[in-house]
Amino acid sequence: MKPRDAIFLSLLLPLAALAAPPAFQADAPKACDNCAAWNAPQEPFRVFGNTYYVGPAGLGAVLVASERGLILLDGGLPQSAPLIDVNIRKLGFRTEDLRLIVNSHAHFDHAGGIAALARASGATVAASAWGARAIEAGAPPADDPQHAFGPAATSFPAVKHVQVVADGETLRVGPLAITAHLTPGHTPGSTTWTWRSCEGARCLQIVYADSLNAVSAPGFRFSGDGTHPGVEAAFRASIATVAGLPCDILLAVHPSFAGMDDKLRRRRERAGGPGVDPGADPFVDPGACRAYARDAEARLDQRIAEEHKQDQQPAAAETRPRDEKIRTELYFGLSIKGGKKVTPAQWDRFLRDEVTPRFPLGFTIVDATGQWKNDRGKIVHEKSKVLILLHDDDDQSAANIEAIRGAYKQRFDQESVLRSNQAASVAF
Ligand SMILES: [Zn+2]
Repeated sequence: MKPRDAIFLSLLLPLAALAAPPAFQADAPKACDNCAAWNAPQEPFRVFGNTYYVGPAGLGAVLVASERGLILLDGGLPQSAPLIDVNIRKLGFRTEDLRLIVNSHAHFDHAGGIAALARASGATVAASAWGARAIEAGAPPADDPQHAFGPAATSFPAVKHVQVVADGETLRVGPLAITAHLTPGHTPGSTTWTWRSCEGARCLQIVYADSLNAVSAPGFRFSGDGTHPGVEAAFRASIATVAGLPCDILLAVHPSFAGMDDKLRRRRERAGGPGVDPGADPFVDPGACRAYARDAEARLDQRIAEEHKQDQQPAAAETRPRDEKIRTELYFGLSIKGGKKVTPAQWDRFLRDEVTPRFPLGFTIVDATGQWKNDRGKIVHEKSKVLILLHDDDDQSAANIEAIRGAYKQRFDQESVLRSNQAASVAF
């Protein structure tokens, strides 16, 4: 190196150090079946006005921006926090300018990155009373439907002090105002957030909807049991709340719940087209919240019916005559060519589109892991779903089953769906 270059470098380095953002201190990553797919990178983008999407591909994180500070909704997984930091900067904002971080629900996949983002910014963290308790503990309490998965599965980095928001309360940062709507069900503290964003004179209502999915660890009943009261009524009220919100743009805690990929694709397709009408933005859909609520209601109805069916089984078995049926098992591999996996949302959609309409009286799904020897003599393990159907020995049932197999193969590029039949004596 020539002396002159060395002098030049020594002048340049302090400037570069000033311009570079502070190194982001992330927490240890969380491992889970879906974590890698959820945390896949996603280019940040403007949703509308001062509202931006900054999350990874499968976990909602939304930025609302003003010159007097930023609001962030949700932090994804612990390993999402550095991606969110990069996404905020890519849009020209600074993570240090976050003043407020709010949470939808206190599960590790939406609250896990909040601690690191709060450390990086000094932002206030706010959540419902239940959510605040869970975030301060770094794990959801015992009344969470997923609590029985255990601390190793459900814990996440805790935040020391979390501000509690009440139902209907509005939080402000400079000119920004976001309102909390308690929508308990998926967790007792689930919260949906709303605000208004404007582009010039055009202002729209944005809804960041929490999950309305009735999913739980084994043993939990949304309809209640001897150890805890039911939460079904509160859950239905939450669904009605979301359906009734002023809602021009729906964003969801898992972007796929609101069809974000599809909306982005449609947006790209129409970009630059002749006579582009701003009103035709695929993200603007005043019916989106009602559709989201309708889907949730159908899933809750199904879940509650399953719980009631379990109640009736032992008593009914003695009073009703036995019935000869065919028991069919279908084995659906969850691996897709190229290393991808069928996601829980894709599986749910498949059930809703292909299975439920053909067997509306009911069916059973079992999570399974299979193994076999591949052509190179290696043992391969694959997670799969087993669909168990009890049906009459008739042509219609057989045709329905073949249609389900065909649909799965086509939708997820599968070579086969194993089918096994046996005669069954059943009593309902
Ligand atoms: Zn959750």
